[in-house]
Amino acid sequence: MKIKFLGTSAAHSYPLPFCNCNICVKARQMGDKNMRKRSSVLINDDLIIDLGPDFTTAAFMHQVDTTAIRHWLQTYCDSESFGAAHVITRMGEYAVEGLKPLFLFASPETIQDMSDKLAQEKAGANLIKTEWLEKLGVVATAVKHGKEYVCGSYAIIPFDTNQNKTVYFIADDTCKLFYALNTDKLTTETLDYFSEHRIVFDVVILDHTYGFNVYADGHLNANNFIKTIAKMKERGIITEQSKVYASHISHEGNLPHDEFLMLAKKHGYEVAYDGLEIIV
Ligand SMILES: [Zn+2]
Ligand SMILES: [Zn+2]
Repeated sequence: MKIKFLGTSAAHSYPLPFCNCNICVKARQMGDKNMRKRSSVLINDDLIIDLGPDFTTAAFMHQVDTTAIRHWLQTYCDSESFGAAHVITRMGEYAVEGLKPLFLFASPETIQDMSDKLAQEKAGANLIKTEWLEKLGVVATAVKHGKEYVCGSYAIIPFDTNQNKTVYFIADDTCKLFYALNTDKLTTETLDYFSEHRIVFDVVILDHTYGFNVYADGHLNANNFIKTIAKMKERGIITEQSKVYASHISHEGNLPHDEFLMLAKKHGYEVAYDGLEIIV
């Protein structure tokens, strides 16, 4: 499995557009891995997690053939995670040609929220009614917590978080990946599922919105990130061989990339950056 990070920032980009804190100033000076777009990941060229506002920009910067994407998992719908303006261009009236179907998986609530955002682009547009799904070339599946779905060559299992967002387990013959952003706590029930099914992750991508000792509400800070990894290790769902990556990174308490990575490695994890590609 090839995993490419298209974006690794929290909701408002990193650096924050108008912020002059030390971290944002340094990020602008240093550039490169310190410039983070909104979080999104591409798997093997054909599966995207979160088709967000930076979708086309990320594709231009990181050499992505967006027309090859056939499968689409959405974790929730907000300005950071859903780019309605990109999706609406799938309509015939944009003179789009050679459209291939896109298979969307998201919770029913997220599909409703995405529909509301699409309707702001084009009156009546939605991801629920057959007429509109056909117009947009989308096949939508409203997913249920803990149920397994076939998604192309992948098996996926969505789990609800305590924040009404969805985290995903994605597996193919080569890799077991767990993608969990926008949460401050993986529920015991979710962790139990993996323990009971004796699943060991090859790769875990976890929310690391805040640095050490920053008050964290709805997201993980460094302290809770480390506690979460420890908990997963205790359960045996990650091992020394598993790769753990921090993503969804904000300017609050986090360090410039190279320093951040050094500190993270001491605690047994890696820090993702935009354009990072790993092969498992
Ligand atoms: Zn977020
Ligand atoms: Zn800042």
